[in-house]
Amino acid sequence: MSQLVTGIHHVTAISGGAQKNIDFYCGILGLRLVKKTVNFDAPDVYHFYYGNEMGNPGSILTFFPYEGIIAGRHGKGMLNTTTFSVPLASLDYWQQRLSKFNIAHKDPEERFDTDLVVYFEDPDGLGLELVFNDDDTRNGFTYGNIPIENSIRGFYNVEIWEEGYERTANLLTDQLDHKLIVEKGNRFRFAATNAPGNFVDILCTPDKLRGLAGGGTVHHIAFATPDAASQLEVRNRILKRMLNPTPVLDRNYFTSIYFREPGGVLFEVATAGPGFAVDEQKEHLGESLKLPQQYEPHRQEIEKSLATVKLDLNNYK
Ligand code: ZN
Repeated sequence: MSQLVTGIHHVTAISGGAQKNIDFYCGILGLRLVKKTVNFDAPDVYHFYYGNEMGNPGSILTFFPYEGIIAGRHGKGMLNTTTFSVPLASLDYWQQRLSKFNIAHKDPEERFDTDLVVYFEDPDGLGLELVFNDDDTRNGFTYGNIPIENSIRGFYNVEIWEEGYERTANLLTDQLDHKLIVEKGNRFRFAATNAPGNFVDILCTPDKLRGLAGGGTVHHIAFATPDAASQLEVRNRILKRMLNPTPVLDRNYFTSIYFREPGGVLFEVATAGPGFAVDEQKEHLGESLKLPQQYEPHRQEIEKSLATVKLDLNNYK
């Protein structure tokens, strides 16, 4: 049988103020804002998508920004760290860049004897890392401030904390086409495609408190499936596992199903296409507020309820 799940599609998190979020991810990290839209289930809240140049699956970090939201807590049953992939030679550059913008970061740490990682957090406390490696063949993207040879290629891995790893591991391997790639200590790395952008690390952390949703925490992770037919097949597998998936929902840039994995993390399975160029020219992705058809008649009120934000990169050279 062909593979129904190919890897990571996107990660969606909750943040504080919208402008601070754009400044951090576009300004400091240099990701491209590939879509500025609203939460389709609550259109008075923005939904920002950041990624590589075209926002390909495996590069997309998205946010629901809420001004003044109370911080959440990292913990069990939560995806706590999202790791971006950068070239090995950019280690000094990134350490200096994070310092220049007063972003506290840990010293480089080895993982699995192959990865060199630096941990830091965004302004809301969302766990992030850079992994320095030469295994990633994807192209970078730059607005001009970060030399393209140092730019982020997309995700490398994500890190989920669990009470025990087995039930989540079984779901990944039995229903979501993942394989165990490597394990060490309490870290088990799975992937549907054995390449940067697709690694899912399950950490066995029985001694940690449970995570609490709030600012600086992840709302869900989405896995990629090729098309509508493969999505329905995955949905059938999830039904058989009694995990109560939602119906297929239209998210304009992909269609989605959602279900909660046994450890408590909300999982989504999203189609690879049609992608972010469906309602904007690829040269102009993220420039204007895009609304799904059902909200177009309410554009004026929606725009009024959203904070004005701008992409001004002059302070982030
Ligand atoms: Zn999603």
